[in-house]
Amino acid sequence: MAKIIDGKAISTQIKDECRERVTAMKEQGQHVALAVIQVGNDPASSVYVRNKKKACEYVGIESLSYELSEETTQEELLSLIEKLNQDQKVNGILVQLPLPKQIDEDTVIRAIDPRKDVDGFHPQSVGALCIGQPGFLSCTPAGIIELLKRSGVVIEGKECVVIGRSNIVGKPMAILLLRENGTVTVAHSRTGNLKEVCRRADILVVAVGKPKMITREYVKEGAVVIDVGIHRNAENKLCGDVDFADVEPVCSAITPVPGGVGPMTIAMLMHNCVESLKLQ
Ligand code: NDP
Repeated sequence: MAKIIDGKAISTQIKDECRERVTAMKEQGQHVALAVIQVGNDPASSVYVRNKKKACEYVGIESLSYELSEETTQEELLSLIEKLNQDQKVNGILVQLPLPKQIDEDTVIRAIDPRKDVDGFHPQSVGALCIGQPGFLSCTPAGIIELLKRSGVVIEGKECVVIGRSNIVGKPMAILLLRENGTVTVAHSRTGNLKEVCRRADILVVAVGKPKMITREYVKEGAVVIDVGIHRNAENKLCGDVDFADVEPVCSAITPVPGGVGPMTIAMLMHNCVESLKLQ
């Protein structure tokens, strides 16, 4: 039977560590505040934003909420970001994605001061990650590294396969695994022989965005499987990119959905908010 990697428990550990640090900072007169901007009212985004605010409350970080209408123009959003960039009382700025179609996400991400880029999406943060310099790490991949380490999974020397090459998950994931001395392969929609490539993996990270696509034919016996996907099935239940019931019997450890990678993303956001004080 595979070990089930408990992202909920590990994320609580990380939030508790952040809470201790925030308490100590407050005793020294320091204050941490995160500005959370949501444009429109996409229901999934509203859930994420609510969970982020709840985590801030738990950790002791002030969350400043900006709920803008669906019709907000790019100029209006950029001017709010500029105001928050200048505000010394704001340590982190988070713009919940996706944005309405009249707003260009890249322009918005670039507008955030890299010293407040707690999502780790700014090109400067990504560049720093690539060349091993200090900077904010993208929360989901950073959370996966924590999950692996805190579950006793050794990355060094292992064959790691990441399915997906998006800017927010696949690419930073590959670089972080490389930084931990894994031997990394990145697979994507044009990869030939995907099953064969995946079966090489000691650690398989799945961020393909297709519900239950990864079955046991993609998994080497004894591999560690990390499922990044989040989907709602026909019964409105959450499921991942991995067919958990099919894969669990053949792997050595696996993350469930829900309760695996998801909670780690928010825990690492809290971590980044606490770290932001060092950069400012
Ligand atoms: P994207 O859709 O941006 O990227 C998907 C990647 O998978 C692409 O690189 C694509 O390749 C590749 N791909 C698609 N189909 C196939 C296929 N049949 N075979 C091989 N590769 C394929 O998704 P994201 O990276 O943003 O997210 C991935 C999943 O993770 C989603 O389910 C998302 O909801 C979830 N997610 C979860 C988070 C969490 O906190 N748990 C946070 C962020 C995302 P190509 O580049 O060639 O098109």
